[in-house]
Amino acid sequence: MDKTAVTSAMTAWNDSPANVILQSANGSLTAGDTYDASASWDGITYWGWHLCYPYTRTCFSYANVYLNYYYTAHYSANTNKGIAAHELGHAMGLAHTSGCVLMTPYTTTRNSCGIYGPVTDDVNGINALY
Ligand SMILES: [Zn+2]
Repeated sequence: MDKTAVTSAMTAWNDSPANVILQSANGSLTAGDTYDASASWDGITYWGWHLCYPYTRTCFSYANVYLNYYYTAHYSANTNKGIAAHELGHAMGLAHTSGCVLMTPYTTTRNSCGIYGPVTDDVNGINALY
């Protein structure tokens, strides 16, 4: 379990102007590692929800964030932090956006932009939801 990536991603969100504070606790948002050599993704978020669509409402009942160790084992600490921060963005209700933003769908884009935590567009997305 790459706790460093998740912890530093939580700190990146908490240090941003987003109206959220992420804390480690036993609760409905979890983050962990998985190992899947057949998957094309390096990070993924699953939700369970009742009536609300997570990209438009945030009333999911749980969110589970996974980093795919098959990829992340070979990535830098900053890359993994960016993936974890991106997936936490999904967990909180953000959709994909293009450009140099945390919520770009591409790890390569985040790296070439030097983005490993939320930028203004990501923060604005969260603050529109919360
Ligand atoms: Zn994504």
